[in-house]
Amino acid sequence: MAKVELKSISKVYEGNVRAVDNVNIVVDDKEFVVFVGPSGCGKSTTLRMVAGLEDITEGDLYIDGDLMNDVPPKDRNIAMVFQNYALYPHMTVYENMAFGLRIKKVPKDEIERRVQEAARILDIEKFLDRKPKALSGGQRQRVAVGRAIVRNPKVFLFDEPLSNLDAKLRVQMRAEISSLHNRLNATMIYVTHDQVEAMTMANKIVVMKDGKVQQIGSPMNLYNYPINKFVAGFIGSPPMNFLTVKVEEKGGSVALNEGSFEIKPLPQHAEYIKKYAGKEIFFGIRPEDMTYTEKPAAENNISVKVTVVEPLGADIHLWLTTASPAAQQMVARTEPHHLFKVGDAANFTPRLEKARYFDKETELSILAELDLQVVGK
Ligand code: ADP
Repeated sequence: MAKVELKSISKVYEGNVRAVDNVNIVVDDKEFVVFVGPSGCGKSTTLRMVAGLEDITEGDLYIDGDLMNDVPPKDRNIAMVFQNYALYPHMTVYENMAFGLRIKKVPKDEIERRVQEAARILDIEKFLDRKPKALSGGQRQRVAVGRAIVRNPKVFLFDEPLSNLDAKLRVQMRAEISSLHNRLNATMIYVTHDQVEAMTMANKIVVMKDGKVQQIGSPMNLYNYPINKFVAGFIGSPPMNFLTVKVEEKGGSVALNEGSFEIKPLPQHAEYIKKYAGKEIFFGIRPEDMTYTEKPAAENNISVKVTVVEPLGADIHLWLTTASPAAQQMVARTEPHHLFKVGDAANFTPRLEKARYFDKETELSILAELDLQVVGK
């Protein structure tokens, strides 16, 4: 059992820098939770407070129901893997992995057993006699993970562990850490600025911005039901398009006017949008929810001009500009068999069941109440 609870936790650094602001997170036993957000949002500081490497300014941290605020790091039964690996350069891989256990006076044969077992899981048995400098970045990262595994901790903490690896290796290590989570059946907390890592690895994602938690949920719930414009734009690549549109109510039905096209939201959405009649809101539509149409219908048709064509092989990203005076920019993701040139006129039908709507001032989702009924608490 290893459940981690952060209750109203804040961190105020010297000079009154509020790096983490009233954060509430529950990491359940055996869960893989990812803290994600842009650089400086407070995710590392939050993780370091869990590790005991930073004092907690306000709030309470519990591991399995025990208050941890004043428990030193070595007594928290956690192991942390750092971005820079933090291996001892003068020690072999074996010694690096065994070191923490020696300090704890674990018997020699037990150390041998645990190091060999971790080396086997991570496929680094043949490097045990090498020094870290004779290893590639990916191999070093595995040793750093191995050093965490041998300690058999209650909770694994990862601080941007893949940031120093090249793109291909990152993808491989991502899968390895996921499969490690399944094999070890351990509680893991993982910090990254990369939303793809968060989406692909997490059971539960915590999106942070400016020291505050924005939303907590499963990857698909965050993707489908973002609570605000920030989360909507942060999760998903290329990001969701946001167009400023005016809400018009005509004879009981709601329309969104962009200047060059009109959208009729689904009735279940319109119910929430109509209180904005006469005002501007953000219409959010993901690039993958724009369907190219050769024969545009009169309604719900976005006509645009193609400004950039990015062929990616499996699909194409098209940068588009609307024909309104505001010339709003958007991106569509289309199948590669449609051929487009810069300057082409094109028509797209938005998948309205996937559309999102945001208050222009608060940037909160206008559909939040409806989403709660779908997603639950
Ligand atoms: P992230 O991991 O999301 O990039 P951090 O948790 O490292 O963000 O930092 C959050 C905020 O706290 C940033 O504004 C950062 O500049 C500030 N910060 C981090 N460490 C310190 C420190 N030791 N002293 C003062 N401010 C700090």
